[in-house]
Amino acid sequence: MSWERNIVLKSPAEIEIMQQAGHINFLALEEVRKHIRPGVTTDKLDQLAEQVIRDHGATPAFLNYPGPYPYPSTINTCINEEMVHGLPTRKIELREGDIFSVDCGTVWQGFVGDSAFTAGVGEISAEAQKLIDVTREALRLGIEKLRPGNRLGDVSAAVQEWVESHGYHVPREYSGHGVGRNMHEGPQVPNYGTAGQGLELRPGLTIALEPMVLVGTHRTRVLADKWTVVSADGSLTAHFEHTVAVTEGDPLILTQ
Ligand code: MG
Ligand code: MG
Repeated sequence: MSWERNIVLKSPAEIEIMQQAGHINFLALEEVRKHIRPGVTTDKLDQLAEQVIRDHGATPAFLNYPGPYPYPSTINTCINEEMVHGLPTRKIELREGDIFSVDCGTVWQGFVGDSAFTAGVGEISAEAQKLIDVTREALRLGIEKLRPGNRLGDVSAAVQEWVESHGYHVPREYSGHGVGRNMHEGPQVPNYGTAGQGLELRPGLTIALEPMVLVGTHRTRVLADKWTVVSADGSLTAHFEHTVAVTEGDPLILTQ
């Protein structure tokens, strides 16, 4: 991908702006979270997220994002076997027992915050809850590795090893990424890899780390809407993401 070559280190002042972008993005996601319940449409949740972003004078990063056709919404909404890039619609209501993933991006003063989470709708199965918990923990373990002197492979391997130790799978075609003035910058940050390999991490790198986890297979396919990515076998998937800055010290989560 062309953005792979485009690695841009950020100054502390730029990271502060990204933290503001990330905070607005967090508030939009929290507004969505509050309204997750059986019967709510994914379009309604999309409107709520967009309102929070615009109320802060910011702009939805996903809206009109280039792809098979310009992305039409503020958030990605994915239910059960849908992994990423699901399109909000008035036709789809959340149902008791679903697991629901929301991904959102916000542009503030020219910089992007990008974050996602998965949550249950009402009561969910123990298996679904375990998938969510494993995926959230994969993100935490990956973030822990975002330290100067580590390599990208350390991050990827931490995610992959944790996920696969539970018998789950990580996709090969969809990755985390650098983020800044562009939603997708270099480096690409796969959810699989080999410790000790790849780019050496440096302060000023800002990474959207986003473990995606599938219960039954690493394979995915894209639906006829040309955006929605689902597990190839229809098994459940989950997705968590934070935008994180590599600093001289601890990793700094920007999207909270
Ligand atoms: Mg995202
Ligand atoms: Mg992302």
